[in-house]
Amino acid sequence: MVKAIVGANWGDEGKGKITDMLSEEADIIVRYQGGSNAGHTIINEYGKFALHLLPSGVFYKHTTSVIGNGVALNIPYLVEEINSLVGRGVPRPKVLVSDRAQIMMPYHILFDQYEEERLGGKSFGSTKSGIAPFYSDKYAKIGFQVSELFDDEVLKDKIARVCEVKNVILEHLYHKPAIDQEELYHTLIEYRDMVEPYVCDVAAFLYEAIKEGKNILLEGQLGALKDPDFGIYPMVTSSSTLAAYGAIGAGIPAYEIKNVVTVVKAYSSAVGAGEFVSEIFGDEADELRKRGGDGGEYGATTGRPRRMGWFDAVASRYGCRMQGATEVAFTVLDVLGYLDELPVCVGYEIDGVVTKDFPTTVKLGKAKPVYEYLPGWKQDIRGVKTYEELPENCRKYIEFIERELEVPITLISNGPGRSDIILK
Ligand code: GDP
Repeated sequence: MVKAIVGANWGDEGKGKITDMLSEEADIIVRYQGGSNAGHTIINEYGKFALHLLPSGVFYKHTTSVIGNGVALNIPYLVEEINSLVGRGVPRPKVLVSDRAQIMMPYHILFDQYEEERLGGKSFGSTKSGIAPFYSDKYAKIGFQVSELFDDEVLKDKIARVCEVKNVILEHLYHKPAIDQEELYHTLIEYRDMVEPYVCDVAAFLYEAIKEGKNILLEGQLGALKDPDFGIYPMVTSSSTLAAYGAIGAGIPAYEIKNVVTVVKAYSSAVGAGEFVSEIFGDEADELRKRGGDGGEYGATTGRPRRMGWFDAVASRYGCRMQGATEVAFTVLDVLGYLDELPVCVGYEIDGVVTKDFPTTVKLGKAKPVYEYLPGWKQDIRGVKTYEELPENCRKYIEFIERELEVPITLISNGPGRSDIILK
């Protein structure tokens, strides 16, 4: 059985926590897109961790953690992440890396920085992890596949070809030092030795696992609104954040994904630039940011303060629809216990017309939020274990949002820990 865990919003919905929790029942957890550009925060018996590349199910002895072909593989980062877990007492994880995954090159990270510098104030809010240059090269067919590290002739030939192009851009567009071919070759040989113990034909491995009836989780990074096709283009990420892409980025048949657990956050937050209709500012935002997540809403990778907003039912319903949500995990609800009333954005007013459909970015720029206000519950709900024990106004908020989403909410997260969860 294959289950995807994905985000309906702008990322940081708490997918890491939900994946960590659902991994108890899983055999294999797969990362299928993105790279080390976003973080998942997980709190469990070993401590608090910010994972960037490894799947969030990596803490269990019985699970296999897989980096699928769709991922932007930063090899030294991966090895460091594995070692840092082991250094903190986590059992050495079983990790497999697809031989078809492509490699994050040192110059991808540099190009990301140089491009942001060049764009100045008009930048795309990149985390400068090399993600956009990486995926550009992949589709321009000048990326390096893991398998290519193991053929010296192929490798050397490709380095020469790629450097020819890259060095022209480095010299004439960015006015930066050229790539030294010999140095790059030695770096890649180091990468080869680092990654070798993990490399495998992941699609074949998963094919057998599916035949054996294993429980497989696909862990998405970021959320539907950062998808390059269906998100707030161009302020999006460079690989698809949708559950459907899990089939491609892992190498399994599309029809095997039976269950799409879509993580929806009880309020809105976003990192980086881009349209954000229900955004709030000033003291109202500071208060929510300070109380949000686990110890405040600051990016797990960059430490940047996240932009804050009220729950956006228009964006979240659309996010669930594009994910193909079969159920919703509703997270960080405990944070909202301080409010007298809770604004929920139920429509967008665009040129005087109210719509409940999430539009393309150009129209989104003109959208003004239409709010409905629900009464607060003024209570700390951390530690509550059953749905019935939740305050009535809290249940009303959940049920209101469930109707707006048009997808059943099956899990409610009322704290950052593994056991802070209510089944509905
Ligand atoms: P991800 O990228 O979707 O995995 O989300 P992040 O890990 O970046 O952000 C979620 C943040 O919220 C982390 O700091 C989590 O520890 C925290 N978190 C997750 N679920 C809950 C919850 O139900 N309540 C609270 N207060 N924090 C939560």
